[in-house]
Amino acid sequence: MDLTFNERELAFREELRGWLADHEPGPEPDGEDANYTWRVEFQRALANDGWAAVHWPPEYGGRGATLTQSAIFFEELGRAGAPLPANVLGLLLAGPTIMTWGTPEQKERYLTPILSAEEIWCQGFSEPDAGSDLASLKTRAVKDGDGWVVTGQKVWTSAAQYSKWCMLVARTDPEAPKHKGLTYFLMDMEQEAVTVRPLRQITGESEFNELFIDGARIPAENVLGGEGNGWKVALTTLMNERAGLAFFLQVRLRQMLDRLIAEAAQRGQLEDPVIADRLGELHLKAEILRLTAYRGLTAIEKYGQPGPEGSLTKWMWSETNQQLTQLAADLLGPAALTSGGRWAYELLRARGNSIEGGTTEVLKNIVAERVLGLPKAR
Ligand SMILES: Cc1cc2nc3c(=O)[nH]c(=O)nc-3n(C[C@H](O)[C@H](O)[C@H](O)COP(=O)(O)OP(=O)(O)OC[C@H]3O[C@@H](n4cnc5c(N)ncnc54)[C@H](O)[C@@H]3O)c2cc1C
Repeated sequence: MDLTFNERELAFREELRGWLADHEPGPEPDGEDANYTWRVEFQRALANDGWAAVHWPPEYGGRGATLTQSAIFFEELGRAGAPLPANVLGLLLAGPTIMTWGTPEQKERYLTPILSAEEIWCQGFSEPDAGSDLASLKTRAVKDGDGWVVTGQKVWTSAAQYSKWCMLVARTDPEAPKHKGLTYFLMDMEQEAVTVRPLRQITGESEFNELFIDGARIPAENVLGGEGNGWKVALTTLMNERAGLAFFLQVRLRQMLDRLIAEAAQRGQLEDPVIADRLGELHLKAEILRLTAYRGLTAIEKYGQPGPEGSLTKWMWSETNQQLTQLAADLLGPAALTSGGRWAYELLRARGNSIEGGTTEVLKNIVAERVLGLPKAR
């Protein structure tokens, strides 16, 4: 593992730091819609200067950034206190999937409005009975003339309320083995047959939604990667899900830990050996997380594909974030929950960390089988 940046990477970081200093996004506004608008505006500013999707090739409006530069981008975004761009699922998932599987016409049509946040994307994968075991999904697409008619239900669809397009995986051949009968569609959300119903979370927000699809029409040219290839195309989306984000998350975790240490110091709690010990343990975990994220990067650069380190960092991050926010609640007492401050939100939001983007149990299986070489559970 090489932790030193070369000259090109250092120059990239300096240029980005300069840009972020000139384009401070300002404090995070309260209220979901205001927060979302703030993130749209921030993405537009990024896009205007070619920073929205540094990892995209220049012909599609990116900077052709290397993986290390992409990691630097997310790390610096986190360090500057900037938000993730509003169209994060378009930039990280839909765009790269369309670049890999799309026809020239699809690339021409969809990529530019992703960059500018003109068209927001959501990911319609999970269903009430298909999450970890995604390939068992039941949403059905049936051929009808020169297109498809889709019926079914999706759930946990983040940002669906703002989205123009949905990366939709549906079953097109119920007779085929479950991984083979799927097709990946680009579904227009703006039609009557699609109903978005927000789900209220423990934080009070509605980040995600239920999606009821009752005879939605999708033209044939909106199939991505060919009929029956949905599983392979979906894997491209899933492989892109964790790339880069680990760096944003580990910096944010570090910042929260520093804030907690400062608050504990102010209250004279660092003198308590038990509290000092728990904070010390979190410091160690934050460092391990940072170094493991870099180790994952080195593996991708060496072997050309992500290793199981992505699963390890996701698992470690969610566990550490939950421990950190719990410690904040323990240290601050009821005030952490009643003062309306940030800690109450962080504590409650952290509960979902061990579910979203792959549950901890599923990630442990991956680490057991692919890192430790233990026998398969199934
Ligand atoms: C904040 C948030 C945002 C999300 N956003 C989106 C989105 O935008 N689009 C989208 O499609 N989905 C989204 N999801 C859904 C997410 O991907 C699923 O919740 C996740 O994959 C788990 O699926 P499930 O909820 O159906 O749980 P299940 O798969 O039913 O799991 C239930 C329990 O069983 C355990 N389990 C399952 N299989 C195994 C196994 N093989 N071995 C051991 N234990 C197992 C799980 O760990 C879990 O504890 C989001 C979820 C959250 C929390």
